[in-house]
Amino acid sequence: MNFYIYNTMSRKKEKFIPVHKGKVGIYTCGPTVYNYAHIGNLRTYIFEDVLKKSLEYDSYKAKHVMNVTDVGHLQSDADTGEDKMQIGAERENKTVWEIAKFYEDAFFEDCRKLNIKKPDVVCKATEHIQDMINLIKRLEERGYTYISNGNVYYSIDKFKDYNKLAHLSMEELEAGSRVEVDENKKNPLDFVLWFTNSKFKNQIMQWDSPWGRGFPGWHIECSAMSMKYLGERIDIHCGGVDHIPVHHTNEIAQSDAAVGHTCVNYWMHGEFLVTSGGKMSKSSGEFLTLSKIEEHGFSPLDYRYFCLQSRYRKQLIFSYSALKQARSSYNKLRERIASIISCVKENERADEKLIDSYKLKFKEQIFDDLNMPNAFTVLFEVIKDDGLTNREKEILIKSFDTVLSLDLLKTDNSKLENIDENLVNKLIAEREEARNNKNWSKADEIRNKLKDLGIEILDSKNGTTWKVRR
Ligand code: AMP
Ligand code: ZN
Repeated sequence: MNFYIYNTMSRKKEKFIPVHKGKVGIYTCGPTVYNYAHIGNLRTYIFEDVLKKSLEYDSYKAKHVMNVTDVGHLQSDADTGEDKMQIGAERENKTVWEIAKFYEDAFFEDCRKLNIKKPDVVCKATEHIQDMINLIKRLEERGYTYISNGNVYYSIDKFKDYNKLAHLSMEELEAGSRVEVDENKKNPLDFVLWFTNSKFKNQIMQWDSPWGRGFPGWHIECSAMSMKYLGERIDIHCGGVDHIPVHHTNEIAQSDAAVGHTCVNYWMHGEFLVTSGGKMSKSSGEFLTLSKIEEHGFSPLDYRYFCLQSRYRKQLIFSYSALKQARSSYNKLRERIASIISCVKENERADEKLIDSYKLKFKEQIFDDLNMPNAFTVLFEVIKDDGLTNREKEILIKSFDTVLSLDLLKTDNSKLENIDENLVNKLIAEREEARNNKNWSKADEIRNKLKDLGIEILDSKNGTTWKVRR
């Protein structure tokens, strides 16, 4: 069966033809580890996880590579603003290295909670400086670079069809990226490959290079690491839609210019998660993290379920009421599945033909540019189908869950494993404080949050204890 992908480059749904038969190489732009991921970022990582698992569903052998940006990313995706890692370090009075380690761990912990599988290769920018230097040298040899005021710049005028991914005129690109006037640039859309004479005199992360001591620009890391781990012909490259006009446009300019041909065959971009107030952004101070929604009594998988109800190319509006609705249908789904599982008998029929025909139906939907809402329709058909035995249903649900990753077959006992004890204890302490302050409504609110988490609390004269509700 053919896999269809909406390719941002052509703005069309295309049949997927892999570089190597039966295999697929996927590169996804990873986090900049200067703060927690917000739930918008996590929506994109969920989409990419579903992509990999869909391709693997009975079909391709996937190799997934993800970078971790721990150097060189400035506040704007172009070369303006402060250094993000430096901002994190100053905010928390730590070294940039400590910040990077802390937020990388936090990111993968969020991924674990969301059942996002760790990529086959996770590569840190700071561990690939030599690869970046080599690539810049290659670009230099081919005449795509110039040095101005100490920094090495990429000259976009040398690259044909620089704007081909964004489908925007050069004027629109320029307007969109709100380019700050930089006297050193020949074209305002040129970008830095290597900083030596940057405005950040206090930059701690610095390396020797043929152009002097300094550090790389942001875009070069993805070109260098994607080619290092996936070769010079890559099947699929993903990210959020914000990466189209700057980051991925610049990546194409670098990679294709260095190798002399098209490097990536399919570009896939996840649309944004937005709130009714608009864009979700880390720079605006308070932003929604996975822990925040957990504190509101939602499980990470409630959020995964919520994301899977819409197509990745559509904007998704986040609200707690929408998440609550998703949680309620997710719980109902799990209850229905639990009752099916409890009725499975060992010697029940498991007809391979019947099973395969439903697997095929499911596959048709996920292979159609990840049509997850329709994939759920197939799941519901299976649940309702009186012609299937409970055993057949169990086999099918287990198979679909290799893509959905919603722990659909886990029984209630597994809740115990998923309880975040630190969070429960924190909420109990907050409730205690509210009660001491006679803030009864807040205390009740926290009790309800705990209830939503599946926790029952018991007050006695010796203090408060808790147990998992059955
Ligand atoms: P960053 O850590 O800012 O580089 O972003 C990590 C990933 O999240 C990138 O693929 C972004 O394109 C994506 N992203 C950023 N904001 C959102 C959002 N509001 N909704 C969905 N994806 C986003
Ligand atoms: Zn990238």
